[in-house]
Amino acid sequence: MCWIFAYNGKKNSLPLLIDGLRTLEYRWYDSAWIMWVNKDWKVFYKKAVWRVSVLATEVENDEESKNDYTTWIAHTRWATHWTVTKNNTHPHHSENNRFYVVHNGIIENYKELKTELEKKYKFYSETDTEVIAKLIEDLFEKDLKTTMQKVSKRLVWAYSVAVVDIENPDTIVWIKLWSPLIIWEWDSEIFISSDVNALSSIAHSYVRLEDNEMVVIKNAKYQVFASWKALEKEVENMDIDYDTGELWDFSSFTEKEIFEIPTVLENTFKWRIDFESKMVNNETINELNELDIDKIEIIASWSSYYAGYMWCYYFKELANISAQVTISSEFLCDTFIPSKKTLYVFLSQSWETADVRESLKIVKAKWGLTFWVVNVVWSTIAKLTDMWMFSHAGIEVWVASTKNVIAQVAVMLIMAIWMWMKKDLQPSKARALIEEIWDLPNKLNKTLTNWPKIKELAKKYSKYKSMFMLWRNVLFPAAWECSLKCKELSYIHTECYSTWELKHWPLALVWPDFPCVVLNPTGRFYSKNVSNIKEVRARKWTVLWIITEWENDPDLYDDVIEVPKTDTLLTPFTMMVSMYLFAMNLAETLGRDVDKPRNLAKSVTVE
Ligand code: GLU
Repeated sequence: MCWIFAYNGKKNSLPLLIDGLRTLEYRWYDSAWIMWVNKDWKVFYKKAVWRVSVLATEVENDEESKNDYTTWIAHTRWATHWTVTKNNTHPHHSENNRFYVVHNGIIENYKELKTELEKKYKFYSETDTEVIAKLIEDLFEKDLKTTMQKVSKRLVWAYSVAVVDIENPDTIVWIKLWSPLIIWEWDSEIFISSDVNALSSIAHSYVRLEDNEMVVIKNAKYQVFASWKALEKEVENMDIDYDTGELWDFSSFTEKEIFEIPTVLENTFKWRIDFESKMVNNETINELNELDIDKIEIIASWSSYYAGYMWCYYFKELANISAQVTISSEFLCDTFIPSKKTLYVFLSQSWETADVRESLKIVKAKWGLTFWVVNVVWSTIAKLTDMWMFSHAGIEVWVASTKNVIAQVAVMLIMAIWMWMKKDLQPSKARALIEEIWDLPNKLNKTLTNWPKIKELAKKYSKYKSMFMLWRNVLFPAAWECSLKCKELSYIHTECYSTWELKHWPLALVWPDFPCVVLNPTGRFYSKNVSNIKEVRARKWTVLWIITEWENDPDLYDDVIEVPKTDTLLTPFTMMVSMYLFAMNLAETLGRDVDKPRNLAKSVTVE
């Protein structure tokens, strides 16, 4: 979840480190540090609690940071063990001040190791990372490489750990298990990062480390080892250019990304749907033709999980294929029974989601047929699956995923329509839906023009502590996703229920201070929702309707947001875009930092 960036060479790499820290600030942003080693092998470091900008100013003002140094390491911490304080910020060092350690991950057996080591060493922080530094001192023998091999055997999951021995400070030894790590070598300089994005603007190629590998970096050269043996690693092309982009006139990246949604959808549909002939056409989907699939199982987490739920509706409703979605962390806890006729689909917005990646490994180990939809072609997940489709959403810079969720839903909608057409189930209906899809980006642009009204409504609704989000049928995952965005960005508590469920218990919470947001598009359930909401209104509940057209009955609602009318199966798109604006504006009204919601990070790389 945190981020590490290191340099070994002859230059002053401070600007690069600061730039990298800023680029990757979405991984975490509460505390950071930079360490560097000078020609006399003296170690300097600066730590800062709060944003990278605070650290950047401190380091830049330090005269010592103006020279060329051989080794630089930077790190943003996502505290797993105890508080965000300077004392807990990395690097952590051994008692003899010889070994400096930076760590991305969690050491599960740290308590037991600490109890053992406390007999000999004094601990100054509360972190699991300090245990590694003390363990290195304790097990040190001959050199750091040999020592780290012994240390890694004592650590229980999960880490990317870099160590500098100040008696040989031009050397960095790095061990890895679970947490990602990549290296780029260029013109007598070595760059190492825990996120490919940090290197993508400068690197042409990279080497990816696998679990249980160790890398020794010295005099701007590196060597990878596995079980004592030196390895030749495959060098992969870096064919992306990470662009954090400009904010232009937007006040946050979240806002910018919501406004990019119509274009993202156009890109997702382009080349995959031929709107002239009203046919779906895509190489990857065509490959599925060869397969005998009668079930789809989607494995994903949170926003992707809701996107996956939407697919289930699409697969069942359009292609008559049974589909289910499982939250990836729970998939890992469960017993996996493979089925030959099932397609296992993995979804991830961030490219290194640990629970999705590990679920994928389980399915692969039992020869399940795997398919992924991900936004980053060069991600770890992409390397592991049998087939894939790219969601074309572009990089999301900040934490809350919006345009990428929409792109995921769109990709699977295309896939479901393709299966529908393949089975030759109602081709004319499929063509009518494709026609509706053609117009969807326009409809979303129209939806976005509601923004001034939504802003005003957000001012009113931001005063509530809790809200209900109510739905029926295909709007279920959309409502849950909207509820998630409200919680994530504004920290307002929201609960989600089917309108039918109200009488089972939610009515017990009826109170004017607990409003309901009702997603009620025109269609099969419109009138049923109206009846349910009448019961709510009879109890004087505040109601915000999100609808495609409404009965002009003022008794039904307090406020209303109208979205363009579309096929019922496409209503999640228009409703979600409205609700993304609503969630963002609730947060802004309450003075939240929408790009950096508290305690969250973009990539969940540990359990
Ligand atoms: N477990 C370590 C800590 O809490 C490292 C966390 C991280 O990956 O940033 O300091």
